[in-house]
Amino acid sequence: MSTETHEGHQLDHLFSISAARLDRWRDLNAKAQTWAAEVRSGKGAGGSGAVQDALSDLRPMESYFAYPGVQLLRTLDDRIADGDAMGAARLVLRMSNALLSGSYRYDEGEWEAAEESAGEGPDRTPPGMAGSLARRPYFEALFVSPAPPARAAAICREIRELRRHDDTLIYEPVMAGSVEDALLATILNGKLEAVVIYDGIPVPSKHDASLLRDYLSVYQHLDTTVDSPREIGVKLARLIANIRPELDIYLLTDRKVEQLAGDPSASAIRRVFYEVEEPMEVHLNILEGVRDRQSTPHFDNLKQYAAKPISTFHALPIARGKSIIKSNWIRDFGEFYGLNLFLAETSATTGGLDSMLEPTGNIKVAQEKFARAVGADHVFFVTNGTSTSNKMVYQAVTKPGDIVIVDRNCHKSHHYGMVLSGAQPLYVEAFPMTEYSMYGAVPLRTVKQALLDLKAAGRLDKAAMVTLTNCTFDGHIYNTRRVMAECLAIKPDLIFLWDEAWFGFARWSPFLRMRTAMGAAAALREWRDDPKAQEAWEAQCRELGEDLDPKDPRLLDRELTPNPKTMRIRVYETDSVHKSMSSLRQGSIVAVRDEDYEHHVSAFREAVFIHASTSPNAQIIASLDVARRQMELEGYELVMRAIEVALAIRREVSNHPLISRYFSVLGADKMIPEEFRASGFADFLAPGTNWLTAAKALKDDEFCLDPTRLTLVCGTAGYDGTAFKNLLASRYNIQLNKTSRNSVLLQSNINNTRSDVASLIKVLLEISEEIETRLRETGEAGRAAFAEKVRSLMEDVPDLPNFSQFHDGYRDDPGSITPEGNVRAAFFAAYNEEDCEYLPLASPELDQRLEAGPALVSANFVIPYPPGFPIMVPGQIIDAHTVGFMRKLDVKEIHGYNASRGIKLIKPSVIGK
Ligand SMILES: *Cc1c(COP(=O)(O)O)cnc(C)c1O
Repeated sequence: MSTETHEGHQLDHLFSISAARLDRWRDLNAKAQTWAAEVRSGKGAGGSGAVQDALSDLRPMESYFAYPGVQLLRTLDDRIADGDAMGAARLVLRMSNALLSGSYRYDEGEWEAAEESAGEGPDRTPPGMAGSLARRPYFEALFVSPAPPARAAAICREIRELRRHDDTLIYEPVMAGSVEDALLATILNGKLEAVVIYDGIPVPSKHDASLLRDYLSVYQHLDTTVDSPREIGVKLARLIANIRPELDIYLLTDRKVEQLAGDPSASAIRRVFYEVEEPMEVHLNILEGVRDRQSTPHFDNLKQYAAKPISTFHALPIARGKSIIKSNWIRDFGEFYGLNLFLAETSATTGGLDSMLEPTGNIKVAQEKFARAVGADHVFFVTNGTSTSNKMVYQAVTKPGDIVIVDRNCHKSHHYGMVLSGAQPLYVEAFPMTEYSMYGAVPLRTVKQALLDLKAAGRLDKAAMVTLTNCTFDGHIYNTRRVMAECLAIKPDLIFLWDEAWFGFARWSPFLRMRTAMGAAAALREWRDDPKAQEAWEAQCRELGEDLDPKDPRLLDRELTPNPKTMRIRVYETDSVHKSMSSLRQGSIVAVRDEDYEHHVSAFREAVFIHASTSPNAQIIASLDVARRQMELEGYELVMRAIEVALAIRREVSNHPLISRYFSVLGADKMIPEEFRASGFADFLAPGTNWLTAAKALKDDEFCLDPTRLTLVCGTAGYDGTAFKNLLASRYNIQLNKTSRNSVLLQSNINNTRSDVASLIKVLLEISEEIETRLRETGEAGRAAFAEKVRSLMEDVPDLPNFSQFHDGYRDDPGSITPEGNVRAAFFAAYNEEDCEYLPLASPELDQRLEAGPALVSANFVIPYPPGFPIMVPGQIIDAHTVGFMRKLDVKEIHGYNASRGIKLIKPSVIGK
């Protein structure tokens, strides 16, 4: 955090607030126990210095959290001052245990200073409420008030006195006396759900908040050098919403409330109160705001439905579970899953349930809540994964003959989406990372070049959409805002589809949010509304002209500005909710922020009808609803922790003397060429890196790395990716996702904790020790063999084949300089088996044809796993590079390739017919 003085730890401390805080408590506890032991044994009495040092390290941070709070810390101070080592040690132990276990959230005794007389706390709750508090969900609410600190305790007491018996939630107040303290609390305290701002608060914190100031200056949110302007309340609300848009923000002001409520800059505020209004109103609003996020309309209804006595005469025998529970043979199915699953299984769309195909009730509301959560105008639930979400978007917004600029490495659903819609892919290439047999992401320059070529060829009107994967499997994140802005400068009504299958969680990180499609769409809109946008565009016109000349080489080298008057913001984002949030498998969403969505409403409805099952799975829908609830209430804290876990793994692997001999986790310096890292950011662990430099990179660089995705190089330990993955799975029950020739991909997410770090590191250590032992035992020859194995894995890597070209027979305009092709025509051409032929990979005829023609034209998609992208698509000319790559490929799983028959080709005689 901001008061941290050890440079190297700053990054960690921002991304690991909870861990850093708990570490300090552990440290304080250790010191307190030592002091008590010394006193008990009669030596070193009075040595409370270490305890006091540890306490003063920790104290500034504690003011941003409700527990243990001022009272308990004051008691601790008193005991230390009295030389009561035992009493101090007991209290520290109790507080740090309560923090670690989270018991303070429901056990009132934890808030009492006097352990002997638990239950008689000074200002906790009215008597008689103790039992009913037991498991009410707990949160904290921030009160930002100019009241002097001496009044703080009294204010807290007044707030607590507002509690009522039938409140279903309980919160503790946290006080902040300045804008900066309010922002620090917002950043540090993941338990906050609501903020109440009293107008007229001062800006500067009493703590050293220099990093915060730098952070604010990077984002140009606030000039912290000025003291309290009158409208600071609204400004603070916006700053807080920029960090955590899910929080409910209330403003208490004595200005004209009606006026403020209509002020667009007050849109971050949930409600404005006149300062003299009833405190009880504020209290009830706080509770209601949190309950609104907590409520899951579809899931709640499903639970009610399951509890009703219902006879069914529809075709779903397992509904209500009777066919299972009464069965002689499949009862274990019911026992395993529990009866609720079957009570909740239904095909009904009435009686409190809703239809996913045409939602009008709770599914509609659940989708609207999800839209709010991700900052979209609309969200559609999809119960067949993002594979289907993507196809729905193609279906809805593209038509035959449209051109889509698309990363050739995109998930196969994009390629198939175009087969279905008839849109023509114009494949663009990501930068290769040949050493690791993987691709990065597509440089903006490449995308601009494709658009400018289309313009030069007179076909820009056909370009409907740009599709990119954000982040990629390996963690490359686009500068989404910049990509869209520059593309819109060339074609102002382009649609963007950002495949964020992996990236849904990013919404809940203030650092990553702006790189999500929805976050960037919001930023673009904000930019457009600023008069500076018009100025920037006019300046560009003076230099480059109003109508950009596609042959002008400057266009590629400079950042282009779109025309704020003509640009449209048309953004689609697809998220596999199940990949990064708590949804059942296949739970996915399409999030829409499209100003011209009206053009597509009916097409979108058709797309839903085409792709959605008429029997959508109610449990998947419920889990989407619940995943949204979780993220809106604890996503911020959980995502922070996922990042913290990933950084801890990076640090442990790189610092461990033995593990680092055989393994490494790739940093941005290895994964992203320097030209795309304008900020100079090298790695999360590089010397001098703190969270501020990371934040700058995330803001400005063309690409950055998702910190939660870790490419662990295992080739240097003598394992290819697949072998290493199998080793981890079979011996250690560790599952991971993706492999390359010499690496595996590890990923942290919202379910990981720090103990997962420890167990992974233990496994890597064990494997490293085994390698050491083996090398020792096998002597010179063994070492040479190992070195050769490593060399082969790390150096004999096949060149990755670029997309060659579509055959002219599958191009609308064979003379055109732009390479789009009709993948759909080629796909269906191959439906006639007699129009196809097969050539085995090893056959001499294949080489002859490569040499002398006629061209080899692929009849289908060929997708090896890994790397998982199509190396051949229907209608593509197969060249020597592709054949060479296929021949070197030592993977077993190749979709679309039958090793015994060979490569499937469209016969030359029928091409284009
Ligand atoms: C997994 C994935 C998909 C498909 O999502 P499912 O939910 O598995 O259908 C699409 N795109 C990308 C980039 C993916 O990683």
